[in-house]
Amino acid sequence: MLYANLEGNPIMNNSVYIGLGSNMGCKRDNIAQAVALIGAIPGVNIKNISSLYETEPWGKTDQDKFLNQVIEIETSLPPKELLRELQNIEIKMGRQRQEKWGPRLIDLDILLYGNEVLDDPQLIIPHPHMRERLFVLVPLAEIGADLRFPDNGATVREVLSSVLAREGNRGIERI
Ligand code: AMP
Repeated sequence: MLYANLEGNPIMNNSVYIGLGSNMGCKRDNIAQAVALIGAIPGVNIKNISSLYETEPWGKTDQDKFLNQVIEIETSLPPKELLRELQNIEIKMGRQRQEKWGPRLIDLDILLYGNEVLDDPQLIIPHPHMRERLFVLVPLAEIGADLRFPDNGATVREVLSSVLAREGNRGIERI
């Protein structure tokens, strides 16, 4: 994986998919603001943006519905630097440390980072829960159905089909 060429200029060759979610305040504005802030990170270009999806909360179900979206960026930032930038955006947007799976103003997850497979205490790629979550798979399939998971070679379309066959489409609405 290259992050700079021989002259030290960054190479925008890493295609990365980021999942966004919000279920507090004006969710649509929160997602739009986060996308704008991600696009303003030096070394990041936004390539593609899925529709917004209204989705049932996961895990802790006695809370408001979420809005979710997936974007594709290209970046010269290595994975952990990108994670730090995304966490800065979460903090800047006023996200407090919250209960696991509780309400949140904005949640930013790195889903896929090129063909990288990382298993670090701080950062796991592919994102550890993305293959079970329709609120990730449905928007991701809209912009990247033919992407392959780097660890087992399955496509996003295949993984989405098997979750849909098992669980049906539980409360995911494109808006
Ligand atoms: P959450 O509260 O769901 O936003 O989880 C945040 C924590 O997950 C942070 O401490 C991250 O270091 C960790 N994490 C592990 N893998 C990832 C990933 N692929 N994307 C974002 N956060 C991750």
